Amino acid sequence: MDDLLSRTRAAVWHPCTQMKQLEAVPPLAIARGEGAWLIGVDGRRYLDAISSWWVNLFGHCNPRINAAIVDQLGRIEHVMLAGATHAPVVELSERLARLTGLGHAFYGSDGASATEIALKMSAHFWRNAGRTEKNAFVSLQNGYHGETVGALSVTDIPLFKDTYAPLLRHSAQVPTPDARLAEPGESAEAYALRCAAVLEAHLAEHAATTAAFIVEPLVQGAAGMAMYHPVYLARARELCDRYQVHLIADEIAVGFGRTGTLFACEQAAIRPDFICLSKGITGGYLPLSAVLTTDAVYAAFYGDATARGFLHSHSYTGNPLACRAALAVLDIFESDRVVDANRLKAQEFTRALAGVAAHPRAGHFRQAGMIWAFDVTAARPGFSSRFHRAALEQGVFIRPIGNTVYVMPPYVTSADAMRALAATLLACLERPDI
Ligand SMILES: *Cc1c(COP(=O)(O)O)cnc(C)c1O
Repeated sequence: MDDLLSRTRAAVWHPCTQMKQLEAVPPLAIARGEGAWLIGVDGRRYLDAISSWWVNLFGHCNPRINAAIVDQLGRIEHVMLAGATHAPVVELSERLARLTGLGHAFYGSDGASATEIALKMSAHFWRNAGRTEKNAFVSLQNGYHGETVGALSVTDIPLFKDTYAPLLRHSAQVPTPDARLAEPGESAEAYALRCAAVLEAHLAEHAATTAAFIVEPLVQGAAGMAMYHPVYLARARELCDRYQVHLIADEIAVGFGRTGTLFACEQAAIRPDFICLSKGITGGYLPLSAVLTTDAVYAAFYGDATARGFLHSHSYTGNPLACRAALAVLDIFESDRVVDANRLKAQEFTRALAGVAAHPRAGHFRQAGMIWAFDVTAARPGFSSRFHRAALEQGVFIRPIGNTVYVMPPYVTSADAMRALAATLLACLERPDI
């Protein structure tokens, strides 16, 4: 194992990591996965409490998803999607259209590429409509939409953004409806409406130059699982309609059941102009992202001139193996009635977490669907790393964001494992040295 750790330090540049810190906190060397569990090369089992960066839905080595990919491997592993098509991408597009109400699917490989696609498509739509000046974007404070240069320009997380600021195009940010920021005595709903009024003022002034408003519906993940009232989305939809600005729903993290409905937008009863999907779309198996949009947007690109079409591609656009994994995921949602089943699981786990919620060190305990979070009060520098290591010792893989501890388990996590996870969180909170 030491051998693997020294070789990873020498040859692998790990994401979002100061490599020097890997000497003090070595990465977990994983040999296998099984359901909600990761199994280390040392044979120890760790509960994957954050679904491997929010991507896993139905466990590691899920037999049904494995079987779909193996079946597809014997047919066609990949073919380019320009000038060719195949059944998995057609079927996936049809099914996603039925589920989102958005009839045209464009594919990328990662979440950030979905953001890039949505931004470019929105600006190109306005260009095709003769409104070339509509090419600016507005997003929420503390929002996260990925880290490629275009996506980073609408992201608002200083740690990720500040260093690269000179490379980025300016975008505007409006206040986040994050319910933790409500005034004492102010409801989450009232605060969300107050924030929506600022969005309205921004659009009233800048609609002529604004192409789209991009937003993470209901939960701002990278901000530390900041949750907000759905009325904000309903109001944003009205405002975007009124001011002729596209609404881009970045459901990369919250889609596929995380917030308690298949898509978070359903809780505000709105349909965005674009929806970005990735992460859970393949159950955490293969990189795939999709941007779905309306007939109106699609129609604006349709014509004889090549330059009027959407000029964007990735080598692996619509990869058949990834599409088959995604189809298997949709099959599981349907046949196991996952959204309903999760509702009961979520209630049960919230009960198991009662001790954590009531703990004096746990502030702003919050939950949305299959996401739970709390902020540890008076956390000292290095808290996240200490908490991570203490939980690992107890067989739980979890990585707090700053002083926010969050849990986003695979949907196949058993009630026993959930209770053990709750006990681990409580034990870590009880330790004064963390
Ligand atoms: C993870 C994430 C992205 C970026 O996806 P990648 O696959 O990491 O590029 C974009 N938006 C949101 C809301 C995310 O959580």
